[in-house]
Amino acid sequence: MKRNTWQREAVRQALGTSEGFVSAQALYSALRDTGSPIGLATVYRALSDLAVEGEADSLQQEGESLYRACTPHTHHHHLICRNCGLTVEIEADAVESWAASVAAQHGFTQPSHVVDVFGLCAACSRG
Ligand SMILES: [Zn+2]
Ligand SMILES: [Zn+2]
Ligand SMILES: [Zn+2]
Repeated sequence: MKRNTWQREAVRQALGTSEGFVSAQALYSALRDTGSPIGLATVYRALSDLAVEGEADSLQQEGESLYRACTPHTHHHHLICRNCGLTVEIEADAVESWAASVAAQHGFTQPSHVVDVFGLCAACSRG
């Protein structure tokens, strides 16, 4: 079954212009503000599809799923402000080599990892 893609494209674009992590509800409101006839259930579904396909990051905060556009197909990590949701994509060579060597030490092959660092961004630290 092929789904309509205009909704997905609209969600992808709205996500791309949002700063930091946003909820499906917030994205839905933003889309409705631009006159889009999209439905909330469609926004939820499109966001979870994008997350599954690696085009969006998702995280759970207070029981709610939040999403953010993610650079696809390149391995990277995130610095995430737990107050405002500002997210910075970072590379971490030290983490890559540590993960590879600790896996090898234990005879593991094809290691992968997810490392996100949470904290308060500069602006929120000043507040
Ligand atoms: Zn990312
Ligand atoms: Zn912040
Ligand atoms: Zn890594």
